[in-house]
Amino acid sequence: MKALLLALLFALLLAAQGVGATPDAAVVAAEDRLLANIARRAFDDPQAMLAELTQQWPAHAQPGQPREAAWLLARGRVLLAAGQVEPADAIAVRLTQAAGDGPDRSWLLRALIQERLGKPAGALARRALPGLEQHCPAGDEPRAVQTGRCDFRTTWDVLRLVQREQYAQGIFMEAEAGMRRALALARAGGDGHLVALTHGMLATALEAQEQVDAARAEIRAGEAAADGDPVARARLLNFAAAVERRAGNVPGARHALEAALRLADEADAPHLAAVLRSNLVDAYIHLGLSREALDAGQQALPVLQRFRDRVYLRGLHHNLAVAYVKLHQLDAARQQLARVAQFGVDPVELVMRARELRELGDTWAGAGQYKEALAAYHEERVLNTRSNERNRAAALEELRRKYDSAAKQRDLDLLARDVQLKDQQLENHRLARQMGFAVGALLLLSVALVGVTLLRMRGAQARLTANQQLLRAQSERDPLTDLSNRRHFLSVMDARARECFEGALMMIDIDHFKHVNDRHGHAAGDAVIVEVGRRIRAAVRDTDLVVRWGGEEFLVFAAEEGGRELAQRAERVLRGIGGTPVDTPDGPLRITVSIGFASFPLGGAGGGLRLHWEQAVNWADLVLYRAKAEGRNRAVGIAGVEAPDPDGLAAILQDFDAACLHGQVRLSVTPGPA
Ligand code: GH3
Ligand code: MG
Ligand code: MG
Repeated sequence: MKALLLALLFALLLAAQGVGATPDAAVVAAEDRLLANIARRAFDDPQAMLAELTQQWPAHAQPGQPREAAWLLARGRVLLAAGQVEPADAIAVRLTQAAGDGPDRSWLLRALIQERLGKPAGALARRALPGLEQHCPAGDEPRAVQTGRCDFRTTWDVLRLVQREQYAQGIFMEAEAGMRRALALARAGGDGHLVALTHGMLATALEAQEQVDAARAEIRAGEAAADGDPVARARLLNFAAAVERRAGNVPGARHALEAALRLADEADAPHLAAVLRSNLVDAYIHLGLSREALDAGQQALPVLQRFRDRVYLRGLHHNLAVAYVKLHQLDAARQQLARVAQFGVDPVELVMRARELRELGDTWAGAGQYKEALAAYHEERVLNTRSNERNRAAALEELRRKYDSAAKQRDLDLLARDVQLKDQQLENHRLARQMGFAVGALLLLSVALVGVTLLRMRGAQARLTANQQLLRAQSERDPLTDLSNRRHFLSVMDARARECFEGALMMIDIDHFKHVNDRHGHAAGDAVIVEVGRRIRAAVRDTDLVVRWGGEEFLVFAAEEGGRELAQRAERVLRGIGGTPVDTPDGPLRITVSIGFASFPLGGAGGGLRLHWEQAVNWADLVLYRAKAEGRNRAVGIAGVEAPDPDGLAAILQDFDAACLHGQVRLSVTPGPA
């Protein structure tokens, strides 16, 4: 059992260390760097690179091994640099087989072959894109590259081919977007050469959108990235020249190209130097330097032919034709044009080609060769028509995109403003609510405070009123008898008409009261006063006001009292007091009172004489005095008075006894109980 387990473990170890094992990420990265370098150098020296590749081919890149595809692709590139299209094609077939479950790199090689042949390569490149890009998620490129999942160079090359087609079709915004993605990949891979080239391509895409300053900034960024790599710098300067040339700065373009040429010569890069010279031909022609143009072109031509570089050859033949026309070497010019015609026209380069034809037509016309000029113009028109048909859809799409992006930006702006507004509104609401709460709380507190205060005030007010009422009641009440006092009577009189007293008055005084005090003591006197008051109260009507006038004197006031009823009431008082002895601490005592009464106005209602209440009290006092004088224990009332006016009344008061004698005053006398 133990032996079996050991054997199993050994087998597993063997499998893990097996020949099919993938080299680790660092080895893969170093190898990719090497392969990239070989492919790059192959542009200028394909044979040497082909040899180096064969010599270095490792075991793990043999058929069926994990690194086979990477090495095959490099070989395909080098073969293409050497102009060997058919072997490259065979490599593409092997690449499909080697793909396994990884991305199919054969599409890239097929696209590169198309490019090399001067044919549209974008569609093929696009087919490679999804398989490659899925391992290089946007925004996460550095990590994807580091773990070895993302083949950033292959993906970059695919993006380059796609953008090249987009650029030729005039879809510059998309081309720019593709290059920004390619830039992220090149940076993630830390490949300065690729970073520099990407900045260069970005610059041309920006210049095409008339963003010249942004384009120049990209060139500067590229220069920083290419630092120390003359080939990268030379290629970047080629892009810089394209930017300046298109921006109309031909001297700038020439300057850049000449600088690039020096770098290429220095780096011993003949193919690149030929490309740069080919571009210089155009700059020299436009600067009127036809001789220099011809020299440069003649130097470049054999090199491009040697490298079978169809892409640059066609352009060079055209430029040479223009230079020859300008130098009036018309046959040589026609020869060059015949070479151009052999290339046919790549559909994606229709616009560029048409532009060249216009330039050619102008040159022919300038040289007085109108037949050729017309032919060139005619061909230009044909190409333009084809290009228009082909690019109308693309142009419309570009327009739509531009519009969409502008509209989207507007929408975003609106949305942002809307969001800001809503935020502000929310904040305002929040503040308003806070304020509302605060105000509400304050109000509530105030209301509560006011309520409590009001309640307290009301309570205090009620108590105050009660106290005042009590005070008033107490102040208007006689404490001994609990009858109204003189003050209360005065307030009642004040409330009535002062100058016209109406009603009846009865003044009552206890007879010989001094004796009670003297004989039975002051306490007995008090008891007598209290009881007399009580009996008066019982004898008169509830509505009558009974007042302790002072000492042992009482006053009864009855509003609107007739004389007859008043006499009867006086008699009831006499009997109520004199009829029953009064209980005192000193034993029961017989008490009598004397009463003087009168009803006002004197002389009866209607024709009566009007008096002030104080005068009325004087009249009652006067008849009480009469009752005392006639022997006490009796009531004397005024039955009638004859006076012409108030002065007459005053005269009666002056001498009451005489008035009684002369019959001016008639009195009624009611005796008390015997
Ligand atoms: P007349 O029949 O003439 O009225 O005789 P009189 O003794 O009642 O006369 P007068 O009015 O002179 O005397 C009243 C006395 O009543 C004088 C006073 O001492 C006494 N008196 C006044 N107020 C009080 C009181 O509140 N209590 C007691 N016990 N005596 C009082
Ligand atoms: Mg008295
Ligand atoms: Mg008295």
